[in-house]
Amino acid sequence: MQTFEQIALSAPLQRAVADQGYTTPTPVQAQAIPLVLAGHDVMAAAQTGTGKTAAFTLPMLHHMMQEHVERSHPRRVRALVLTPTRELAAQVEESVRTYGKYLPLTSTVIFGGVGLNPQITKLKRGVDIVIACPGRLLDLINRGAIEFSGLEFLVLDEADRMLDMGFIRDIRKILTRLPKQRQNLMFSATFSNDIKKLASGIMNQPKLVEVARNQTVAKIVQRVYPVGKSNKRALLSKLIKEGEWPQVLVFMRTKHGANRLTTQLDHDGISAVAIHGNKSQNARTKALADFKQGKVSVLVATDIAARGLDIDQLPHVVNYELPNVPEDYVHRIGRTGRAGRDGLAVSLVCHEEEPLLRDIEKLIREQIARVTVEGFGDAAAGGGVPRDREPNHPRPQRNRGQQHQRRRRPAGR
Ligand code: AMP
Repeated sequence: MQTFEQIALSAPLQRAVADQGYTTPTPVQAQAIPLVLAGHDVMAAAQTGTGKTAAFTLPMLHHMMQEHVERSHPRRVRALVLTPTRELAAQVEESVRTYGKYLPLTSTVIFGGVGLNPQITKLKRGVDIVIACPGRLLDLINRGAIEFSGLEFLVLDEADRMLDMGFIRDIRKILTRLPKQRQNLMFSATFSNDIKKLASGIMNQPKLVEVARNQTVAKIVQRVYPVGKSNKRALLSKLIKEGEWPQVLVFMRTKHGANRLTTQLDHDGISAVAIHGNKSQNARTKALADFKQGKVSVLVATDIAARGLDIDQLPHVVNYELPNVPEDYVHRIGRTGRAGRDGLAVSLVCHEEEPLLRDIEKLIREQIARVTVEGFGDAAAGGGVPRDREPNHPRPQRNRGQQHQRRRRPAGR
């Protein structure tokens, strides 16, 4: 297996990677890093949890150092990373700092929901790398607070989600402000037609990297618990208490639902906190910090708020409600099983959600095993699929050979 030393990254980057305890590159890193180092535009299908952030950050930092000359102040922006959410922007910046800790490059993060002025002040001082959400960035561009004449790299992270969230117009406006000569990198969990269309307008003969197309991370065990709608909360509390799940990320479809469930879990004696778009940025940051530090055991999140959350060693994800868009299921369960760790993704599915479940199973080309808990089963849900009788000892459902085959088939959507 390839090691990081075999990829020609500069010594300060190798040191930073070693500090993180990484020994071997993940598949997306092994494929994408050499292509980026060779100067190609790269379009990579890789979901969160595959190590994609390092896959673009490491070679980008390498190039920036090769070309680095002490410039007169202020510095000009040399790399722009666009992300769909504030949390992801913050996490990407954290990764840039982590991997660039032995380099004299500076970075800053730009997103809405917090004051403009501190961001403007930082930009005025000069910064090499900007990680931004499209809306606030456009605002700053229009105010003349940022310009990109020195830009060398554009990265679109989680591009599919940026399209889903309606950022396409903002992105197009931002593109008009960038120099034509630049290296473009685009990461997306899925390669939809819309993504390909977006890419064709941005990228210059991109090299394609596909790691696990529409695939869930291999080590995630998935289970469906058929349950009547009104019994979901009681079943969730029971699973959390009896299953000895120390940290659980629970997905809800709505902000209101997330608030309500958080209160109900509290009543059941389970410490929970909600994270969603109606919360202030400070409340979101605190919720995530409390969860990461183990102060609360359940984080109840909506899809958008949870996007990009990188929580180390998160073993359990619960879909309290299935998402309307099947791709969101892949994103949601990508929260667990991060960086090759084992994970369990449980979905509480009531009768009305059966069509959504079928769409998800079609997308991931896999039938998820059903587990019935006595007294909770929804007789109408989950029919016709083998049932797993060992709720506390789930086992992986597929062997390596099957995965391999599945990966090579085209995505028949
Ligand atoms: P990402 O897909 O970028 O969100 O990364 C997911 C997680 O994988 C993060 O917690 C990284 O710290 C971790 N990671 C990235 N690259 C490696 C690697 N080569 N070996 C082990 N862990 C890694």
